[in-house]
Amino acid sequence: MTSTSFYIGVLKESAPGERRVALVPETVSRLRTAGLDVLVERGAGRQAHYPDEAYADAGAVIVDAAGLDHRADLLVCVQPPDAGRVAGLHTGQALLGLLAPAANPELIGACARLGVTAVSLDLLPRTLSRAQSMDALTSQAGFAGYRAALLAAAAYERFLPLMMTAAGTAPPAQVLVLGAGVAGLSALGTARRLGAVVTGYDIRPETADEVRSIGARFLRLTDAADGSGSGGYARALSQREREAQQAALQERIGGFDIVISTAQVPGRRPPVLVTRDALKAMRPGSVVVDLAAGPFGGNVEGSEPDRTIVLEDGVTVIGAGNLPASMAAGASAAYARNIAAMVNLLVSNGAVRLDPEDEILRAVVVTRPGDRPESEAAAATPGPETGAGTITETDTEGAAR
Ligand code: NAD
Repeated sequence: MTSTSFYIGVLKESAPGERRVALVPETVSRLRTAGLDVLVERGAGRQAHYPDEAYADAGAVIVDAAGLDHRADLLVCVQPPDAGRVAGLHTGQALLGLLAPAANPELIGACARLGVTAVSLDLLPRTLSRAQSMDALTSQAGFAGYRAALLAAAAYERFLPLMMTAAGTAPPAQVLVLGAGVAGLSALGTARRLGAVVTGYDIRPETADEVRSIGARFLRLTDAADGSGSGGYARALSQREREAQQAALQERIGGFDIVISTAQVPGRRPPVLVTRDALKAMRPGSVVVDLAAGPFGGNVEGSEPDRTIVLEDGVTVIGAGNLPASMAAGASAAYARNIAAMVNLLVSNGAVRLDPEDEILRAVVVTRPGDRPESEAAAATPGPETGAGTITETDTEGAAR
């Protein structure tokens, strides 16, 4: 990765509630050492506690939005910039971030029309070991799982660990985590470190060893189907299988004080695992955190993102919003390392180079300059050939997390 005058531009995020920033001073230094120049939009890191001065000390040049959009060869962001901002970009530039193409067809259409290369980190093939250093969904899901356990602990009005006091002994909280992927394992580990008795459940039986390895029990539901799919992912269940799973879970959920749900099959709506009847079976004071809550539903019936509901019978349901943004300093530092690793793959000899044989680039590059004639691109929505995926009823929110 050597370059003369190749500018990476760090955008100030504009999405509501987004406090993260795509590069932090430490990664700016590293990119500078690798021969790249970095422009940072004034105030880009302020909400994540990275002041402009720290970027300047690391060798970045602080500029205003117009200067950045004009000069940057590769613009980096967390969430997609708004339409007005994208409209000001020009042919030959590239945009890298969690662009959620399926949820943002206008953005992708605009990039195609303008000849801007759009690179979306959320399309990264997560199972490729070569891709791990760039895997922003994984780094951010780890933060989200951790934060979900803290949220649950704060809302739960009893102790998580066993407490022996002169006034008597309080039993430890029983915590169930549904979905033992990245966020789920992080939530399990955190709840365990807080002293709770933890149990994990996943539709893929092969996750049982991972759950046990962090000191949790694995919940086996004899009436629920084996949901292992291909490539290490779960498969979507049929309606009948879903109902059987809900019923089996309903019988067990009442025995837990805290439930944290993180179940999802990529590209599908989150499955409903906790029904209203299951919530009714929980004791007053119990807490449920739905990490999968989004505009297309969640794992918990009735949950909504960024909303806490206390049900009549005293059960608190927390629909998680953008949890990594609530720990913007740490989440940005991890995200920045993912961005730097992707920059390393994308940029060589002072230019963005898209090796068509590279399986990571084939997956993440959504638009390339010259992909299509301008008239065609103007009407374009992302299609499978662009790597953006078709927009179907089953697509999830694709929110940048
Ligand atoms: P992941 O793919 O690593 O894990 C999902 C797990 O769910 C997998 O292990 C899968 O086997 C399991 N699963 C799928 N269907 C299931 C079912 N019917 N029953 C039980 N388990 C099932 O995904 P992840 O990165 O850990 O993310 C999990 C969820 O958390 C997603 O919905 C994601 O959008 C959400 N998330 C939210 C935030 C936030 O801030 N709110 C941040 C990151 C991720």
